Amino acid sequence: MLILADALVSAPDRVLRPGRLRVSGRRILEAGANLRPKNGEEILELPGITLAAGFLNLHAHLELAPLHGKIPPALPFAGWLRQILSLLPGLHSTARTASILESSRKAAETGTTTVLTILSDPAALAGLAGTLPRIWWALEFMDLHGDPGPARQMERLAAWLSRHPGADWKAALSPHAPYSASPGLYRECARLASELHLPFTTHWAESPEEEELFRSGGGPLRQLLPQSWAHGKLSERLESMPPASLVAHGNHLAETDFPILSARDCVAVHCPTSHAWFGRQPFPLQRFRQHRLPVVLGTDSPASSDNRCFDLRLEARTFHQTHPQVPYAEIWPMLTTLPAKALGQEGILGSLQPGAEADWVGWKVDPSADPAAAILTSTDPAEIISVAGRLHRPERI
Ligand SMILES: [Zn+2]
Repeated sequence: MLILADALVSAPDRVLRPGRLRVSGRRILEAGANLRPKNGEEILELPGITLAAGFLNLHAHLELAPLHGKIPPALPFAGWLRQILSLLPGLHSTARTASILESSRKAAETGTTTVLTILSDPAALAGLAGTLPRIWWALEFMDLHGDPGPARQMERLAAWLSRHPGADWKAALSPHAPYSASPGLYRECARLASELHLPFTTHWAESPEEEELFRSGGGPLRQLLPQSWAHGKLSERLESMPPASLVAHGNHLAETDFPILSARDCVAVHCPTSHAWFGRQPFPLQRFRQHRLPVVLGTDSPASSDNRCFDLRLEARTFHQTHPQVPYAEIWPMLTTLPAKALGQEGILGSLQPGAEADWVGWKVDPSADPAAAILTSTDPAEIISVAGRLHRPERI
């Protein structure tokens, strides 16, 4: 099939006008400005549309949308945690399943074709037949109340995934956070991630309370943890992380943490709307850059942000507000090529190059404008979305 659009964003500084994309099944064959239809080739005409690679969101909680607005913003982290811990048991698996479907559709319609979502309740997958975007299900583990048996749970997830080969779903592992997962659990998750070649992610250094807990053994977070909680060393967990781990947040890293993460080619997932929602200190972008640690953008959950639609454009705009020195052309790779590389999908996702998956999005923006800025500052849903060559047009009423 040949897709005829007004423009195609090959990279923020490389825009083809007009934009032509040739796809076969789930793969991109060619991208260019001068591609001509072949004999009998199917044509998809998209006048006024700019084609771009779909975004990747490497930190989301698709199952938690019903908790949006239930907890007020700007609480200290321990206060927020106390409230969410009281709300989570009331969020049943069926409500989580509905949330996953609805949230993933909203993410896709706002340009995201890949989501790595934290899965804390595997029962929420029951009855799910497919999602619009491709999904990495990052099964979450804690061991505050006994051994969660990660190996057995990962086997069950793998068996479930094998029953849905057409759904573009994959597995990942996530020890929740250093205060809820022991060094032993981090090691076991890291072992499984390496053995099974799966992405590894964890919440890390999110709040000052977490930093205080490990520095002093006390503080407000300690009061939420069981009496028997024994923290062990933070560095022990950090050093057990496998290469290319995805570190969600990283707001309060110690100076000594950066070289450890850098040596492992880790990637930080910064979630700007959640950061703003908690009223946090500025994100230490410069320190990540000094240590050559890539930073990508994620949405986190609507229980701790205003981003109800899992819209990465809103994350980009919020990030640009707090880091006006970073132009949209530099933010663009934080949503496309960098997260694709972090997932081991360089050249396959986040790009419209030949051989890549046909994960593209058609935007109605001024085709003569700077495309990265025009797309990231747009607020309407995309006109058309393709995931692995499957087309979806948001319904307009
Ligand atoms: Zn999170």
